[in-house]
Amino acid sequence: MESIQDIKRVVSTNGHLKKNKGVATIFGTNVFSDKVMKERLPKETYKGLRKTIEQGAPLTLEVANVVANAMKDWAIEKGASHYTHWFQPLTGITAEKHDSFISPTADGGVIMEFSGKQLIQGEPDASSFPSGGLRATFEARGYTAWDCTSPAFLKEDASGNVTLCVPTAFCSYTGEALDKKTPLLRSMEAVSRQAVRVLRALGNKTSSRVTSTVGPEQEYFLIDKKFYDQRIDLIASGRTLFGAPSPKGQELEDQYFGAIRDRISGFMADLNTELWKMGVLAKTQHNEVAPAQFELAPIFSTTNIAADHNQLVMEYLQKIALRHGLVCLIHEKPFAGVNGSGKHNNWSLATDDGINLLEPGKTPHDNEQFLVFVSAVIKAVDVHADLLRAGSANTGNDLRLGANEAPPAIISAFMGDELTEILFDLAKGKKASSKGQHHLNIGVDSLPALPKDNTDRNRTSPFAFTGNKFEFRMVPSSISISGPNTVLNTITAEALDEVANRLEKAKDVNKEAAALVKEIISKHGRVIFNGNNYSEDWIKEAKKRGLPNIRSMVEALEVMAKPETAKLFEKYKVLTKGELHSRYEVYLEKYSKDINIEARASVEMVRRLYIPTVIRYTGELAQVISGLRAAGASSTVQKAILGDISALLDSAVKKLSVLEAALKKAQGISEAHSKAASFRDKVVPAANDLRKDIDALETLVPTSLWPVPSYADMLFKL
Ligand code: ADP
Ligand code: MG
Repeated sequence: MESIQDIKRVVSTNGHLKKNKGVATIFGTNVFSDKVMKERLPKETYKGLRKTIEQGAPLTLEVANVVANAMKDWAIEKGASHYTHWFQPLTGITAEKHDSFISPTADGGVIMEFSGKQLIQGEPDASSFPSGGLRATFEARGYTAWDCTSPAFLKEDASGNVTLCVPTAFCSYTGEALDKKTPLLRSMEAVSRQAVRVLRALGNKTSSRVTSTVGPEQEYFLIDKKFYDQRIDLIASGRTLFGAPSPKGQELEDQYFGAIRDRISGFMADLNTELWKMGVLAKTQHNEVAPAQFELAPIFSTTNIAADHNQLVMEYLQKIALRHGLVCLIHEKPFAGVNGSGKHNNWSLATDDGINLLEPGKTPHDNEQFLVFVSAVIKAVDVHADLLRAGSANTGNDLRLGANEAPPAIISAFMGDELTEILFDLAKGKKASSKGQHHLNIGVDSLPALPKDNTDRNRTSPFAFTGNKFEFRMVPSSISISGPNTVLNTITAEALDEVANRLEKAKDVNKEAAALVKEIISKHGRVIFNGNNYSEDWIKEAKKRGLPNIRSMVEALEVMAKPETAKLFEKYKVLTKGELHSRYEVYLEKYSKDINIEARASVEMVRRLYIPTVIRYTGELAQVISGLRAAGASSTVQKAILGDISALLDSAVKKLSVLEAALKKAQGISEAHSKAASFRDKVVPAANDLRKDIDALETLVPTSLWPVPSYADMLFKL
């Protein structure tokens, strides 16, 4: 369905095909893909490597040596001089350290070398990456290990430099995960193991692995670089800390799906070309709801590759934007008063023989399978709503979730009217009956007919079933998708484990499956909600149902410190207690650091830009007033304006001291949670309060004097 042909079609409709001389000819040219490996590796080596990729069999150094050599030759032919172990530390962005292939020869020259050992293991200095106490600084060593399940690729920069990137996991000397990839890979293992057990119990004999699949839709803003360069807030924190609303916002709804302007489509074309070369299946692009906001969606792939590719998408959005005199903002809320950005994480489970386990099937057998799997996910989401919330918490998302914008901070699942009715009928022990041609008639009475095509859409739900996958919409736009998917996979593994335990023991599997669905929906159906998630009524209703409403990142992270969370992640071998705790600390620290930077940028802008500007203008006004008085003319209007501005300036200066005091206090706290809480409860409100006065001043001071570009400049002059 979604193939290169589709991409070609999309591209040609966008008019880029000519420029790109046919996408199919450039797609994946910078990937050391399966095809390239097949061509370049001896048969035995290729087979050995496939075994490692598909079944996790240990990789011998012999195989690694041959693969490394072939990879190097391929990379050099394409112009590479360096390689890097490409990894994903807890900073949430990727890290790379480049080494050239050169090795000296006896006669004073060099040869190009890349050994199996260099391919499978690296040793970057890890001392400056966050580790939450896992790696004492005296033990600075960290290790990177080749992840052969995500293909190596080449990165090209604007000046034509080419670097071979080897996707790797990153861990400490003692083997603890210091990165985002390792737990993701482990969670994929966990969910596969449990899903296969359930499949076996249901009579499936053909599938041997189950992979979680993800298609992450990426939202972002673009602004002209000349405006960005003038804003300390954007440079320091990725969002505007001040700015009065522009006269026009998003109320006309004329941006969403609007015609893409030439400057933007030129950027998108270059972006697509670079992404396609690296094998990223960039597919859909459109204008988003807010002015200057856009979206890019790839075709889904296995979670691991989707996570790697999403990192590349974020990196290249920013890189290619600069080539067009633009800056790409991937912050969750760059501008107050218009929509923020998220990442819609479309997630499902697929077997190695091509079955989507969340696809309502065409036969009774598939139907039973679907109901069991979908119920397990519903249970997982209800039981671990707090973990899903924690997995999608970051500093920027505090400005989106629950703050009168999509989505709310309450986790609920949208299932569509028909499916919901079926599930609740089952829970009540009612036999659901076929509703004619809308339903697949499955001919058994223990299980109901399923809607053929779930076309219902609900744009307000944080976790929406969209026909054959769940769309997790709470994920922040700027973070790695590894975290949320590690949570999704792990909690689903637990639910499936419990299902498998029951099915394996059952005398009549079909009866037990039906009983399980009934039980789960009776108990966890409370998490299903198909209405408007933005309404006040839902907040009240959710409270009645006992669903958590977690408003801040600091509060959301608290679940990571609970013993039962450590037990869950240890049980499924995703994170040890130590690894989990290190993440808790790192994320709390990250929050404090983010707010600290924002507050310091606010202070600096107010002290060095806004106050001096206002003082200059009030001085000018005062001169005008005394001039008018000397001339015997009326100065009522000027005096009134001067009065208003002076009052706001007074107030702002007071609020500035409040902010500075709050900041100093928070900076002085050492315990990570209290520190973060102090930043949230004291610093954030003080900064917001200060912003109000500055934004009010912006509307009173002449545009020509205002020291930074306005919202109207940034959002509408693209
Ligand atoms: P929307 O209505 O949200 O635009 P689309 O059908 O266009 O939905 O899909 C959005 C994303 O979901 C795409 O990235 C797509 O590849 C992905 N997707 C489709 N099927 C699956 C699946 N089985 N697993 C994971 N992601 C999927
Ligand atoms: Mg979507």
